[in-house]
Amino acid sequence: MEWFNEQLDESIFDLGARISIKVGKKIFEGQSDFQKLEIYETPKFGNLMVLDGAVMLTEANEAAYHEMISHVPLFAHPNPERVLIIGGGDGGAAREVLRHPGVKECVMVEIDGLVVEKSREYFPTIASELDNPRLTLLIADGVKYIEENQSAFDVILVDSTDPVGPAEGLFSKAFYEKCFASLKEDGILAAQAESPYYFRKTQKELFEVLKSVFPYSTLYLSAIPFYPSGTWSFAFASKKYKQNEQVRTEAMEKMRPELRYFNPEVFYGCFALPTFMREVL
Ligand code: SAM
Repeated sequence: MEWFNEQLDESIFDLGARISIKVGKKIFEGQSDFQKLEIYETPKFGNLMVLDGAVMLTEANEAAYHEMISHVPLFAHPNPERVLIIGGGDGGAAREVLRHPGVKECVMVEIDGLVVEKSREYFPTIASELDNPRLTLLIADGVKYIEENQSAFDVILVDSTDPVGPAEGLFSKAFYEKCFASLKEDGILAAQAESPYYFRKTQKELFEVLKSVFPYSTLYLSAIPFYPSGTWSFAFASKKYKQNEQVRTEAMEKMRPELRYFNPEVFYGCFALPTFMREVL
């Protein structure tokens, strides 16, 4: 046994901190055109996925991310039928979106086919819906894809890596202006918005962009082990409704037994922010 260490002290993190997980065998390592993918076995958390040295997910804790990036916007929308996922190559967000029977089509645009291929192989419970007939999976750059689909979606999820490398463009104003145009008139967007503790500059910049593009935006939280600080955030941006104005409460209650993290109380509570976190809004 040895330790996997995510070093939070280079590129965009300048913290001088580490996240360490005891691991067994490294069961895969590969370099795609976009990033380095590593997969480890762990004694306590199932398999671990790492992209460019950053923890993406563990089998044991992935629900805290995938349920929260998906069900918060989807239950806040009155009738989500067409959903777009940018990124999300492990398949977790798609799995959650497709739990909603009203979703007629989910389009998933993932830039790196290696992530999809290896998620199928090493994370079968996360990639479980990648062959669902309601899913259209495209291996493409989300920055480019979004330019070609006006008013096409009810909900857009930006399930990206950190704002470096291929994901840098997913934090730009031009990208969010295109997302706005790709949403229907009551569309809602959710995006992974990094650590509210350690990523304040990026969050401030992201919300400057969202506030300039959407009439309404806010932040919500999830507790995700092995992410920097363990507290993670998602941006919620909407063309028409606030998160509590059109809630599909019956459908939300009905899905409760299927889920590990998300539930109706969490839906309302996750928008309650500590004072210092509100400063980026
Ligand atoms: N869902 C994971 C989790 O539980 O935290 C982490 C996010 S997922 C692995 C991030 C994905 O975004 C990666 O598969 C990466 O290849 C993809 N990605 C990064 N930039 C992209 C872009 N410009 N277009 C589409 N996908 C992109």
